[in-house]
Amino acid sequence: MTIDTHSVMYITKRPDLVFTEGQGSWLLDQNGKKYLDFLQGWAVNCLGHSNPGMIEAIEKQAKKVINPSPAFYNEPMIALSNLLTANSCFDKVFFANSGAEANEGAIKLARKWGKLHKNNAFEIITFNHGFHGRTLATMSASGKEGWDTMFAPQVPGFPKAELNDIESVKKLINDKTVAIMLEPVQGEGGVIPADHQFMRDLREITKKNKILLIVDEVQAGCGRTGKLFAHQLYNINPDIMTLGKGIGGGVPLAALLATDEVACFEPGDQGGTYNGNPLMTAVGFSVISQLLAPGFLDEVLAKGQYLRELLLDLSKELGLDGERGEGLLRALKLNRDIGPEIVERARNLEPIGLLLNSPRPNLIRFMPALNISREELKQMVDLLRGVIKSIK
Ligand SMILES: *Cc1c(COP(=O)(O)O)cnc(C)c1O
Repeated sequence: MTIDTHSVMYITKRPDLVFTEGQGSWLLDQNGKKYLDFLQGWAVNCLGHSNPGMIEAIEKQAKKVINPSPAFYNEPMIALSNLLTANSCFDKVFFANSGAEANEGAIKLARKWGKLHKNNAFEIITFNHGFHGRTLATMSASGKEGWDTMFAPQVPGFPKAELNDIESVKKLINDKTVAIMLEPVQGEGGVIPADHQFMRDLREITKKNKILLIVDEVQAGCGRTGKLFAHQLYNINPDIMTLGKGIGGGVPLAALLATDEVACFEPGDQGGTYNGNPLMTAVGFSVISQLLAPGFLDEVLAKGQYLRELLLDLSKELGLDGERGEGLLRALKLNRDIGPEIVERARNLEPIGLLLNSPRPNLIRFMPALNISREELKQMVDLLRGVIKSIK
């Protein structure tokens, strides 16, 4: 079957495939071929494809009310806010539609706080290889190579430090510094967790210098690391957190969370047509409730450990460089730049394809559904073994 895609704007190279159905950790293409999905919408579908609880939430809410307007409260918005604050160190929630938008909100909130409480301080220290989204401000906050000139001029005020190098952070702190913003585990940068000591040092110097600590948990949050939120791995309480991806389980939902002391927006500062709409927040409520079901997060941790062991065995067997990550956000370190070739060959496997991602050419990233089975984890590693062995 040939596919006519001429009207779809070209923004990335896509294979000649159309995915038509999904169930759990499996996707089906237009020809009926099955794929074991370790992308899951880019770490988005934390409960896999076609999760019954999410479907029920969509159906129920769609029949009640889809959007009364962001100028009014609605039931799921209130319920999900309460659920998030009851299970975190934060007091206030603003819902957004994408991770980038939540991060834009975090940047605005920090700058507003700087205006009110820190003599107009506005600089936010961010990190090389960090990723915060594709709006102009979040691209400027990101530390992706080449992004500083891509759509120049950048939004100013995002000096870059090195992850896990506290001295590189200290050097950048001055009177203008209002916040430090980081991913607890750099996702797009190649699944690089912040060290425990580094995170605790960040919390200490931010407290000492009256600087806000912002964690971008768009990828690492919502159960991905085995904790509901990734910063909980470090036993620290940040001032601001952003969520995206997993919180909607596949639908466009994101959130900006802040403590009472920091939540200083006034009417007119922040908003958006779809923000907090009941259809998406009803799904988010179902997702977070399922993550909080007794034993669920413990299982994520256990399966993360199981995947780690499988990857270490594979690495040993094939002479690779080991693995890293937290929970079910992991990466296999190849010793050569064969990542893109592995991704291509894995997808083209017959009769069952495997969907993977290579954020760096010497790395394969795994971001499966959090409710994936051990059998499926094992099956992935067995398929991957064959693929790597097939590359000379
Ligand atoms: C994906 C991602 C974003 C951007 O989220 P979008 O929903 O694509 O805008 C921001 N931060 C991190 C850490 C991400 O992984």
